[in-house]
Amino acid sequence: MRVILATHNRGKLVELQDILRERLGAEADRLELVTAETLHLEDPVETGTSFEENAMLKARAVAAATGCPAIADDSGLIVDILGKAPGILSARWAGVHGDDAANNALLLHQLADIPDAARGARFVCCAALVVPPTDSQTEGWHAVRFGEMPGHLLRAPRGENGFGYDPLFVPDEQGSEGAERQLTSAEMTSEQKNAISHRGKAFRALATDIERLLH
Ligand code: IMP
Repeated sequence: MRVILATHNRGKLVELQDILRERLGAEADRLELVTAETLHLEDPVETGTSFEENAMLKARAVAAATGCPAIADDSGLIVDILGKAPGILSARWAGVHGDDAANNALLLHQLADIPDAARGARFVCCAALVVPPTDSQTEGWHAVRFGEMPGHLLRAPRGENGFGYDPLFVPDEQGSEGAERQLTSAEMTSEQKNAISHRGKAFRALATDIERLLH
């Protein structure tokens, strides 16, 4: 069965494929995961006011365009002292979509006077599956799952891996106990990060719903 992942990020495809293989075993081979990028589908404008609304609108748009089940995720950083910000505006916090360096610089500036004990933050991810009705059905169905990665923000970036706010973010959950110092998510390998990340958790939760497609 063909399932479309509503993203232009190949890293997310590989991450979801690995999770599905881990969760569903050989059954995962019955799912052909294809990205919206491969099908040359445009990203819809994210007009939602929550992670859930944005994930659902992306999955709905791709399901409507292709007639196939579609998966989308929407994620971002929530900084305790900033209320829910940057939240759904994480990708364009400094004004230009996807300018990670400017976003990180602005966030550091905003938190300059905030003491270490008050620099708590978390990444949040909402993953959505939208399944259109088959010929014999009048209604389709959908599922929405969340994942979080709590941690805190540093005063200067560290690490070259990952993307976005990773160089500033130290996850509470570190994986390897007793390490000399705590790693930022940009100092972790993708396997280390995926095991504890908001997206990994949301995708692993959604795997149960994706499994329903096969039965
Ligand atoms: P997206 O919904 O996955 O495209 O994420 C939106 C924005 O949130 C990204 O552009 C990043 O700024 C931030 N973000 C989401 N997940 C992560 C992460 O795992 N590490 C660092 N930044 C992230």
